[in-house]
Order: sequence, then structure tokens, then C-alpha cells
Amino acid sequence: MAVELPENVVVSKLDQLASWCRKNSLWPMPFATACCGIELMATGASRHDLARFGAEVFRFSPRQCDLMIVAGRVVMKMLPVLQRIWQQMHEPKWCISMGACASTGGVFDTYAVVQGIDRFIPVDMYVPGCPPRPEQLIQSIIDLQDKIQREGTLQGKEFDLKNRQGLNRALLELPLGSGAPPQGAPATVAP
Ligand code: SF4
Repeated sequence: MAVELPENVVVSKLDQLASWCRKNSLWPMPFATACCGIELMATGASRHDLARFGAEVFRFSPRQCDLMIVAGRVVMKMLPVLQRIWQQMHEPKWCISMGACASTGGVFDTYAVVQGIDRFIPVDMYVPGCPPRPEQLIQSIIDLQDKIQREGTLQGKEFDLKNRQGLNRALLELPLGSGAPPQGAPATVAP
């Protein structure tokens, strides 16, 4: 007996469906410390309409967020705060490093400024520029969405989780505020 299917049937895997939900409901945690923060605020304004990408609801509690956006330079004294907030965010979580300062220290090549936050927390996307324009940050969010979809919720993320947990353990062993990168931390990548 022939079975008549209703119109507009979509077939997918549960894993892909969950990834699709995740990537379209990002909850940003702004960690804005300097001039890049102004462009971050502009990105959240109505002109750029982040709601198109499901990422318009900025929260200031790490427990309610899954996307850390570090916008601006991070000084050594601030580093323990950044580490603490990152550790308070639940998995799965992602991080965007916005601007030259967050990614490499930028022009502030000094002992007082962190020369790349990826020495201390895992970064998923780097946004080049000084400062990057809102369109660039939006592009990084779109790229991150692709990455989330590719990773999936099971195999890819499981592997990534192990890396993150390893790095988080390294962070916990690191004296807070120390300038030394944790063992096994990725090298700083210039944007
Ligand atoms: S990258 Fe440029 S705009 Fe951004 S915080 Fe550094 S100096 Fe400011």
C-alpha cells in the first residue's frame, strides 16, 4: 500500500538538528576592555541586527552564556578575571578573539599586556583589525556557526571537549595572573 507523505518533509540526523539549534541560538558574553568594545556595542545595535543570526541576546552572567567575545586588550591583572569567567561558562562554549590586541597584544608589546588570549583560553575564531568593523565580527559569528555545525554534538565535540578540558586543567594549575602560558597551550596565531 502506498504511503502518502505530507508536503515539505525534511529528513535529518538528530546530531545535525541539535547542531543547527546550537548554532542559531548563541548567547554572547561580552568581555570588552577597550576601543574594540565600542565596535562590539555597534554590532549589537539595531543597524546590524544580530537577531538575524540568533546571537542578539548579550548576557553579563557567564552561566547564561555560551559565546565569549573578548574585545580589546587584556592586561595581566585582568587575566584572572577572564579565566574565572571562562571557567564559569558551561560547555559547550566558544570564544571569539576580537581585534589585534586580544589576539596578539597588538601594539602593546609589553610585559603588562597578555600577548594573545589563546595562551590562556581556547579561541575558536580570530577577528583581525584595529578595530574590526561590525561586519567582520558578524562574519566571524557566521564562520563560527559553520564550525559548530561541522563539529556536531557527538564525535567532533567530544574530541574538542577533551582538548578544552585538558586546557582547563592546565589553566587551573596555572597561578592566576602568571604570564607563563600553560603547558600544551596553542601558540598565538596572528590574525
Ligand atoms: S585592536 Fe585597536 S581598537 Fe582594538 S583594543 Fe586594540 S588598540 Fe583598541
